[in-house]
Amino acid sequence: MDTCLFCQIASRERPVKMVYEDEQSVAFEDINPKAPVHILIVPRQHLATILDATQADDRLLGHLLLVANLIAKQIGIAERGFRLVINCNSEGGQAVYHLHLHLLGGRPLSWHPA
Ligand code: 5GP
Ligand code: ZN
Repeated sequence: MDTCLFCQIASRERPVKMVYEDEQSVAFEDINPKAPVHILIVPRQHLATILDATQADDRLLGHLLLVANLIAKQIGIAERGFRLVINCNSEGGQAVYHLHLHLLGGRPLSWHPA
C-alpha cells in the first residue's frame, strides 16, 4: 500500500512523533490532537477498516488493545482514565482508511456517545 499514509508512517517513510513500536504495531502522536493525550495505535498490516478484520486477525486486534494498556500505563494516565476509539467508514467519522485506535486522555472526556 504505497499510497497509504499510515503504511508510510509505519515504515518510517513519513516522520511522526513515535511513542511505541513493535513487530506488529506502531503508535504515534496525532497531528491534530483532540485531547492533551491523543495517540494513534496502528497495525503494521494494512486493514482499511475494522470491518476488514477477520478471524485470522483476532490476535492482532487483541494485541492493539494491550498496546493501548501499555502506553496508558507508561505515560501515566491509566489510573485517571482514558478512552479508546475506532472510527469506521463515513458516518463513523473515519478519515484515514488504515485501521487505527485513538487513545485519548489527559482531560475529562465528557461526551458519552453510548
Ligand atoms: P480517523 O478520523 O480516520 O479515525 O482519524 C484519523 C486521524 O489521523 C485524525 O485524528 C488525524 O488528525 C490523524 N492524522 C491524519 N494525518 C496525519 C498525519 O500525517 N500524521 C499524524 N500524526 N496524524 C495524522
Ligand atoms: Zn495502510
